[in-house]
Amino acid sequence: MFDGIINPFYFIGTQWQMFIEWFLVQPLLAQIIIVAGVFTLIAGTIILVYYIVKGLIYVLSHLFKALYRMLKALAKGIYNLFKKFYNLITEDTIKPKEQKIVYYNINKEIKVKTPRSNNYSLLVDASKVKFCSKCGRKFSKTVKDFLNSRGSAYCDKCGKKYISQTRTIEMES
Ligand SMILES: [Zn+2]
Repeated sequence: MFDGIINPFYFIGTQWQMFIEWFLVQPLLAQIIIVAGVFTLIAGTIILVYYIVKGLIYVLSHLFKALYRMLKALAKGIYNLFKKFYNLITEDTIKPKEQKIVYYNINKEIKVKTPRSNNYSLLVDASKVKFCSKCGRKFSKTVKDFLNSRGSAYCDKCGKKYISQTRTIEMES
């Protein structure tokens, strides 16, 4: 008995020997019932183990799926957080550019679309301006000559007045 505790294989061996000795002295019917009982026990154990393993796999797979979703959401959250930080850091360098574009567009709109400005004469660089900002007509040679010689001219098509910037500066100085 003391040896059995120390060596479990020896303990199982003696138990098995005791069982065989006991089994052999039993009557035939009892032997058949015992064998059937052992097989039922083995089959029952196999079925039980099968369902336990199946259940374990089911639970584990759902656990891993949940874990995967959780990690994915976490990764996405961290990514968005870093993106926000990145935008926050780079915002200062990006914003002035955007503002420049906006201002430019506003200026363009005021010059081209505001009706009031069209009624006033527009200061232009005579050497660079080629088209009327109101109607879009290309300036004829006469208009350009007038701009250069007199310092002012009217559009052939719409009559908008243009004043040469260079002439104005020259006259002022
Ligand atoms: Zn015009």
